[in-house]
Amino acid sequence: MRHPLLEELVAKHRPDTKDGKVADYISALSRQDPSLLGIATVTPNQKVMYGGDAPTVSFTLQSISKVISLVLALMDHGEETVFSQVGMEPTGDPFNSLYKLEMMSPPKPLNPMINAGAMVVSSLVKGSGVEDRVGRLLDLVRAMADNPEIEVDEEVFRSEYETAHRNRSIAYFLKEYDQIDDVEETLQVYVRQCAIRVTCEDLARIGLSLAQYGRSVTGEQIIPQSIARLVKTFMVTCGMYNASGEFAIRVGIPAKSGVSGGILASVPGKMGIGIFSPALDDKGNSRAGVRLLQSLSQAWQLSIF
Ligand code: GLU
Repeated sequence: MRHPLLEELVAKHRPDTKDGKVADYISALSRQDPSLLGIATVTPNQKVMYGGDAPTVSFTLQSISKVISLVLALMDHGEETVFSQVGMEPTGDPFNSLYKLEMMSPPKPLNPMINAGAMVVSSLVKGSGVEDRVGRLLDLVRAMADNPEIEVDEEVFRSEYETAHRNRSIAYFLKEYDQIDDVEETLQVYVRQCAIRVTCEDLARIGLSLAQYGRSVTGEQIIPQSIARLVKTFMVTCGMYNASGEFAIRVGIPAKSGVSGGILASVPGKMGIGIFSPALDDKGNSRAGVRLLQSLSQAWQLSIF
């Protein structure tokens, strides 16, 4: 159902899309229409509300998938093993930076939301080979979104995989210190999880699963409560790249963004939110998407602080 306030906020913030720029380092993403802006919200009673382009657009998860792989790696191995290999601290650096990694001996990625940390986490996801491991990630996304039709977009995967020079160099760097086993297998899993295609409604339902402490929209406990709490905390401290501090102050909702222009947001106990607008600001967050979420947080008093 279209919601009047969501429509009003989309109309207010659509001009902000002009201040942003679509990611062009992945060629398939550079073709996205920068003027798009959509939002979906879903509440525990399963009421779905839309605004703007939400009913008609789909996009790839990109960095939002780091939340999903972290959930699965924690379910597979537990906190102790995962956090012996990746830290819990925000970096203040761009998501694909190698800088702090090189200063550490041995290197331990500072958190699971930067690319280095996310690749270590992807390498921890259990399974026999790429297909099996990506299949398990897909199954979790589908369960959280309550949508069995979610798939990997192979074109977006290929377009990133062929030019993943920086991620490949990060993976080789990690390999030198035995932080990952197989460079190409890890990259294939990581880039495929980034290419999982969803809608705003899918994201909103994923956000609701976390908001309900691991219970999906159907009421099934698909993720242990402690893990749902833990990943929401990472979303607060590291979810919006090196703008997470400002976002926490201005918006105050656990959220994770991706360079496709998607934002996953989870208001504990209350609501899941999915936003898409591909024109990004200089930190890599959706320009209009962040402003829309800020206005919504104020209007509905969604800040957790
Ligand atoms: N696949 C992208 C990359 O690794 C994801 C980046 C992002 O969304 O932040 O460069």
